[in-house]
Amino acid sequence: MLDCAIIGGGPAGLTAGLYTTRGGLKNVSMFEMGVPGGQITKSSEIENYPGFFDSSKTGLDFMDAWQKQCFHFGLKHEMKKVVSVQKTGAFFTITLDGGETVEAKTAIVCTGAVPKRAGFKGEDEFYGRGVSTCATCDGFFYKDKPVTVLGGGDTALEEAFFLSNICSDVYVVHRRDTFRAAPPTIDRAMRKENIHLITDSVIEEAVGDAMGLSGVEIKNLKTDEITHMDNTGLFVFVGQDVKNDVLKDEAGNFICEMSDLGQVIVDLKMHTSVEGLFVAGDLRIDAPKQVVSAAGDGSIAALQVISYIQEQQ
Ligand code: FAD
Ligand code: NAP
Repeated sequence: MLDCAIIGGGPAGLTAGLYTTRGGLKNVSMFEMGVPGGQITKSSEIENYPGFFDSSKTGLDFMDAWQKQCFHFGLKHEMKKVVSVQKTGAFFTITLDGGETVEAKTAIVCTGAVPKRAGFKGEDEFYGRGVSTCATCDGFFYKDKPVTVLGGGDTALEEAFFLSNICSDVYVVHRRDTFRAAPPTIDRAMRKENIHLITDSVIEEAVGDAMGLSGVEIKNLKTDEITHMDNTGLFVFVGQDVKNDVLKDEAGNFICEMSDLGQVIVDLKMHTSVEGLFVAGDLRIDAPKQVVSAAGDGSIAALQVISYIQEQQ
């Protein structure tokens, strides 16, 4: 029986692993289906993690030390995909891909939420090298330069507004002539003089070379006209894929309370509505979607797990 099963090995899961093991729990396993590190390993640079300021290091380099530190304190990594986390009596049953099951006293689920891809040519090639899904993370790289934003929802227009305070011009490309975002958000974007709304249009292609993205081609869907925009960063906000499947029961119902957007409702101590089940990082409601906050959540959840186990003894 594990003291704690951690599902997902991004910043939230790794920090939960560090705090649970260093906090004295002997039997903690982190189930991460890939190499630990999470989404940030896709980034070419991280500039907003306090105390870390080295532009020669990629996200992968940055996360490497995190796993070494966790494993040093006794965290075990099982490179396996978790299919479901269910509460059976007082404990949790973790079902792995292939059918194997593991019992745990507590579970911290940190499976994250992945920004959806739009599917245009060059998107994957330049992802993390000029194509971004995070204005807070990457906006500053385009200080006083023009950027392009793809999407017409609340996220796209709110992030366009954020970028408009850093960048010289923000070109919002949306595939229809009406926006999905809430009317006050659309009004605010329309009033900002350096936000330019380009409707009935899509990104045809992200172009660049070994150095990264150099520009974008925007296609007007009504006229088929292609406009080439040079020297621009491209921010894609076309929705989120919340990785919450592990929290569904056999009937497909969630085992804990969820928001309408499929994020897990937690309190400030990362408690879910199920005793002994904690959620940390981008999977939770109102997540700021930053490494530093995911790590903070992981530490909070781990400290709560330690208290919970002590109370049960
Ligand atoms: P994730 O990092 O998403 O980790 C979740 C992990 O769970 C993944 O490793 C996944 O493989 C694993 N997993 C999912 N499902 C299962 C399953 N069923 N079984 C087993 N494992 C599973 N933030 C910043 O603060 N600064 C930046 O500069 C920055 N830049 C970014 C650049 C890019 C390109 C991207 C994509 C994100 C960036 N972010 C940045 C955001 C940051 O990476 C995330 O907010 C953070 O990684 C969230 O951490 P997390 O642990 O909650 O989830
Ligand atoms: P969203 O509402 O699903 O909007 C996604 C946008 O991307 C839509 O405009 C969509 O176009 C476009 N899109 C989708 N796939 C595309 C593709 N392949 N190519 C080009 N464009 C594509 O996602 P979101 O903006 O992330 O918001 C998610 C939810 O969070 C929403 O319910 C939103 O209201 C909520 N939210 C609320 C706030 C707030 O209240 N302050 C802030 C952010 C988000 P179409 O419109 O044509 O489908």
